[in-house]
Formats: sequence, structure tokens, C-alpha cells
Amino acid sequence: MVGVGLSSCSLVLALIEAGYSGEIVMLEQADVVNTNKTWCYWSDKHMPRYLSPLVSKRWRHWRVAETKQSVSNNEHGYHCIKAADFFNYCFERFANHGKVTMLFNKAVDDIVVGTSTVTVRSDDFSITATHGFDSRPPPPTNVDRGSLLQCFTGAWVESTKPIFCPQTAHLMADIKTVGDAIEFIYILPLSRREALIEVTQFSPKAKSLQHLQQMTLEVLDTFGLSSEDVTGWEGGILPMTTHIDPTIVKQKGSNTSNQCRNIGIRGNCIRAATGYAFSQIQQDSQRIARQITGQKIATYEEKKISLNAGLYTWLDSIFLMALTQRPELAPEVFKRMARGTTGEQFARFMTERASVLDLLKVIGSMPKRAFVRAAWETMRWNRR
Ligand SMILES: Cc1cc2nc3c(=O)[nH]c(=O)nc-3n(C[C@H](O)[C@H](O)[C@H](O)COP(=O)(O)OP(=O)(O)OC[C@H]3O[C@@H](n4cnc5c(N)ncnc54)[C@H](O)[C@@H]3O)c2cc1C
Repeated sequence: MVGVGLSSCSLVLALIEAGYSGEIVMLEQADVVNTNKTWCYWSDKHMPRYLSPLVSKRWRHWRVAETKQSVSNNEHGYHCIKAADFFNYCFERFANHGKVTMLFNKAVDDIVVGTSTVTVRSDDFSITATHGFDSRPPPPTNVDRGSLLQCFTGAWVESTKPIFCPQTAHLMADIKTVGDAIEFIYILPLSRREALIEVTQFSPKAKSLQHLQQMTLEVLDTFGLSSEDVTGWEGGILPMTTHIDPTIVKQKGSNTSNQCRNIGIRGNCIRAATGYAFSQIQQDSQRIARQITGQKIATYEEKKISLNAGLYTWLDSIFLMALTQRPELAPEVFKRMARGTTGEQFARFMTERASVLDLLKVIGSMPKRAFVRAAWETMRWNRR
């Protein structure tokens, strides 16, 4: 496993659960894991059960661009797992399993795939294995037409006064267009005093995270908070694109018969239109673990997901084209999408498990003229 991050650890967990008994070696370039992350996702019956105790909070209600949505069952709501809790759990499971070796300060430079083995190398080491999994994030590149970058910085805050409403997560508050970027605030209240407050921009160009951090402090100010109330920061730049570099990233859902496979964001397990990756990474990990341990390759449900992947890629490419052509439409687009769907429908669409009716609801809620033009432009662009 190249990297000790979300996808590699999720895969090792899934392998252990599936009864894999071989030796596993994980190589990480950093000296520790990155715990400055919070993973949120809409949960459903397909999520591995062992993640449940790690959830810091579940929201039955959330707001998208000022529109409130709710689900009747908390278990199908918006969930949040802190990276520190996830990695602590993983490391305990790996230690108990006894066959997982994690090596830090080991940057992999080169991967050589043989006929039945894969060798990872650097200046001072070379390790050969039967299967290799590469989670090195693809280098950030300039985005093509119809693609965006999700740039965000968030502050974990602890207020002395009870100022947050912990019942509702705000996914896209105060959404507006700033030049060619779409900007909004994300508020994740864990309790009346504790929250994650993030400034996010969907932009065709990479934004300075330092500048976004400054903007986040300005948002904190509107809550009567300052840098003294900040207990931690997180942030990053995520690709929002359906244009995949075929030399780096293989199609998601591809089989693992080849010796080395890309996983995580590198393996395209990220939703192009949203930047959400957690659910896809869990699904991919389950699928790979079953294949490696010789279990049934794909359930009916999984086959459906794999067939649907092309459909979501197509929908996301039109969505992204529309947003890049007409960024000023973004507040209206997200508002309409939230108003036109129930909480359950919205959650299923976000996790790529929408029914035909859900899809019709989402598509029907979009501004027609802009999306027809974007669909036409996407078709012309893809033909080039
Ligand atoms: C701050 C933040 C918050 C996010 N929040 C959400 C969220 O709420 N919901 C959601 O669905 N998604 C979220 N994401 C997106 C996605 O889930 C995460 O980025 C996730 O960590 C991706 O997993 P990964 O395994 O692909 O990459 P990582 O978890 O980044 O793991 C890759 C690892 O590879 C290591 N590595 C790189 N190069 C080498 C090398 N040469 N040799 C050895 N190791 C190497 C890296 O150091 C890293 O540890 C978030 C992303 C960020 C950055």
C-alpha cells in the first residue's frame, strides 16, 4: 500500500474484515498521518458497520443554499467522522491483526509492475508484493474547460457561549458568485459550542489557502469568535473534474486482476461535482477486498453502481460545464436542487444511489436552457 491515508486504511480494514490473512505493508512519505481532516457523508445500509462507533455526530437536518432538508431516519442522515478517531481505530485493528506493518518517512518514487508481482522502490528500499495499491494523490494541475477546483479552509472552533444550533448542518450557506468562482460557507455544529466553519470556493484557478484562512477568520468574526477560539485548522484543494488523466487514474470499478491498482482520489473515487470521496472510497475498498479474498465479485447492487458510474460522470460533466459557463447561476441551481428533492432523494443522489425518479427530480429542478447549452458544449468538448 503506498500511502497511509483514508483509502489505504479503509482498504486494509475491509481486507481484515473479509478474512485476508496475508502480510500487508504500508509505506507513507510523512512521519505521521494527517489528522487535520473531517470526513462527512450520507450514510446508508451499504456503509461498513464498523464505522458506526466512530461517528462524532449525525444530522437528520441540513440546509443547502438556505433550503432545509430532512430525513426521517437519523441513520440515513449526514454523518461526520474525525480523522483522528478513524486512524486511532485503524491502528488498533491493524495491531491486533498482527500482519500489518506501517512504515513512515518512506516516500515511494517508483512502482514496477511485473507479471505476477509489483515492486515499490525508493533510494533506500525496495519491496515486492503480490498486489500493490497506490494512493498517492495526483498532482494538482490546471483544470480544463468544464472542470473546477474545490479550494477550502476550515476552522474548528470552541465558543465560550452556546451559539450554534447542533440539529442542522449548513452545507452551503451564503452562496454567491465572486468573479468566476462560487463561494459559500460550510458550518458543521457538533454541539452548541463546538463547530467546524469553512469557507469554500469552486474555482477554475487554485486559490491561496492563506487567503481563504483569512476569509474564514472574517466569518468567525460574524459569530463573535476570533483566532483564540480556534482549536484546529483543515483545508485543501480537491479536483472537480470528469476529465481523467488515463495515465494516472483507471476507471473506478475496474477489476483488480492487474497487479497494481490506484485507489482513493488517485483511483477516481471522488464525485466530480461535489468533491465528496468518503462513500466511494468505502465502496471501492469493500469491492477490492472481496475480489482479493476470492469472494463473490459483484453483487447485483454493485453491478448497478458500476453501470451507473458512467451516468453520474455524464451528469456531473454537464453540471460542471453549466457552472463554469454561468457561475452566476450557482445559487439558483443549488436552491432549486434542494427545493426539488426530498432529503432522502438528495442523499441518494449524492451517494450515487438515486432511483430513476430521484434522477428525474434532480434533472427536472435544473434551469433548462443553461443545462441544455452545457450538455451541447460538453458533447462538443468530449468529441475533440
Ligand atoms: C481537509 C479535507 C477534508 C475533506 N473532507 C471530506 C468530507 O467531508 N467528505 C468527503 O467525502 N471527502 C472529504 N475530503 C476528500 C477526501 O475524502 C480526502 O481527501 C481523503 O483523504 C482522500 O483519501 P486518499 O486515500 O485518496 O488520500 P489521502 O488520505 O490524502 O492519502 C494519501 C497518502 O499518500 C501519501 N503519499 C503521497 N505521496 C507519497 C509517496 N510518494 N510515498 C508514500 N506515501 C505518499 C500522503 O502523504 C497521504 O498520507 C476531504 C479532503 C480534505 C483535504
